[in-house]
Amino acid sequence: MSLNFCSLSSGSSGNCYYLGNEFHGILIDAGISATAIRKFLKSLGISMQTIMGVLITHNHTDHTRGLELLTRKNSLPAFTSPNIWKSILSPRITIASDCMREIPLQQKFHLAGFEIEAFPVSHDAPETVGYHICAGDQKITIVTDLGHICQTAAHYIKAANLLVIESNYDEQMLMNGAYPHFLKARIRSDNGHLGNHQTSSFLADIFSDNLSHICLAHLSKNNNTPELVLQTLEQTFLERGIILNGQQKISILNRYEPTEMIRIL
Ligand SMILES: [Zn+2]
Ligand SMILES: [Zn+2]
Repeated sequence: MSLNFCSLSSGSSGNCYYLGNEFHGILIDAGISATAIRKFLKSLGISMQTIMGVLITHNHTDHTRGLELLTRKNSLPAFTSPNIWKSILSPRITIASDCMREIPLQQKFHLAGFEIEAFPVSHDAPETVGYHICAGDQKITIVTDLGHICQTAAHYIKAANLLVIESNYDEQMLMNGAYPHFLKARIRSDNGHLGNHQTSSFLADIFSDNLSHICLAHLSKNNNTPELVLQTLEQTFLERGIILNGQQKISILNRYEPTEMIRIL
């Protein structure tokens, strides 16, 4: 069996992630154009025909931009909770109705050989979910937009072998930056995004040998840099005496282009 993960795009400009085995693949979010998704998949040698569906985390445009065309042109089934569907649908957005699949929260379902569970996270959309995906004994958890890590989210994050988690902003850059006060407060709130120190310190709390790969995702364009994300994590791990075992890896996901394919199995 093979198992591969790749980020096609990650950040406030657009999110789309790929997970695939030797037969099929799925996408998590469609926050870049359908054309860009098809182009990036092709560049990775992945045929659109092998994609069995897209899981949607919430209604913000940086997670749904390409959804309409993926359902209408590629007839791609799209999965999310009934509340998130309600928040996505509007007179301006026409999703092909036969592609809409409703999934209840915290109930396992099967797609493309994966066992998948959506779980609620805290964010400023009508409803937002993370996904926990099992492939054999490998577990993947994806949480890209959340203001704080509640107990439910922590449960799924701790179970992950490969974790995709946001490290959205550097606290100093955000505070000293040009954003208006209300926006800074929104981003820092429990319903906003996770800062570098928040993510790093949580990762230090839950770190174990089971966690083989951490992907730091959804970096802010204006309030963060990949160097600061890595520096904060390394410093936090150093302070806590955490040493990677040589097999464990950390990746910072690219904003505008695919990140190197991660071979999980
Ligand atoms: Zn987002
Ligand atoms: Zn969002």
